[in-house]
Amino acid sequence: MNLCKCIEPDDTQASYDAAINEDRANAPQAIPGGRQKRAVGDHTKFWKKGRTLKVAFLSTNPWFIDATKGAIHQWIPAVFDVSILFVKGSEGDIRISDEFHSGNWSCIGTDALTVPKDGPTMNLQWQGLDQDFFGTVLHEFGHALGLVHEHQHPDANINWNETVVYEFMSRTQKWSREEIHFNMLKKFEKSNTRTLPYDRTSIMHYPIQAELTLDGVAIARNNRLSANDVKLMTDIYSGR
Ligand SMILES: [Zn+2]
Repeated sequence: MNLCKCIEPDDTQASYDAAINEDRANAPQAIPGGRQKRAVGDHTKFWKKGRTLKVAFLSTNPWFIDATKGAIHQWIPAVFDVSILFVKGSEGDIRISDEFHSGNWSCIGTDALTVPKDGPTMNLQWQGLDQDFFGTVLHEFGHALGLVHEHQHPDANINWNETVVYEFMSRTQKWSREEIHFNMLKKFEKSNTRTLPYDRTSIMHYPIQAELTLDGVAIARNNRLSANDVKLMTDIYSGR
């Protein structure tokens, strides 16, 4: 199985500028009572409410396109202050390719605005329509709407066996130590992440094998939006 990899922007200043130009509410939140200044990387990346988000496919496979659209439609009731428009051609805010050897990955939210216009902002590994593909699209589109990984939630209580995680992920996914840290082990801070209480059933959570944890606790793969996923997205993208 190919796990998702979030794309870390090369240029954190461009990422910051894109997010703030989109919506000033993405600016880093001050720590109450703290004198510490937030760093440039500590911003959220949500799209501005009221905007139309154009989604284009850099693929000519009609089965891939139909299946991907079908899964994305699952998110739409939760983002009703943002319109999602599937466009013909390649001029989308989100551009989805299906290069098989590229794996599953996506930019997070407004980071897509920093990608050259002729390139994809998301890739999905098409292996035919099944529940895992459906779940993968839900997960990657969650990133495209600005969500980060749930297993990196500030309150995630996963007892990682870090030595095994580094060995296993470099062997099975061919990831570097930095990519493993960035996509699995690093936790986000409460001050710069929109969250609800930690949810092991979130579509944004990785499945975790028992051998990767010190206490042998495993988390099964989930291919559906959890109630918390829908609530969080509704909180972010609907009128308050
Ligand atoms: Zn992911």
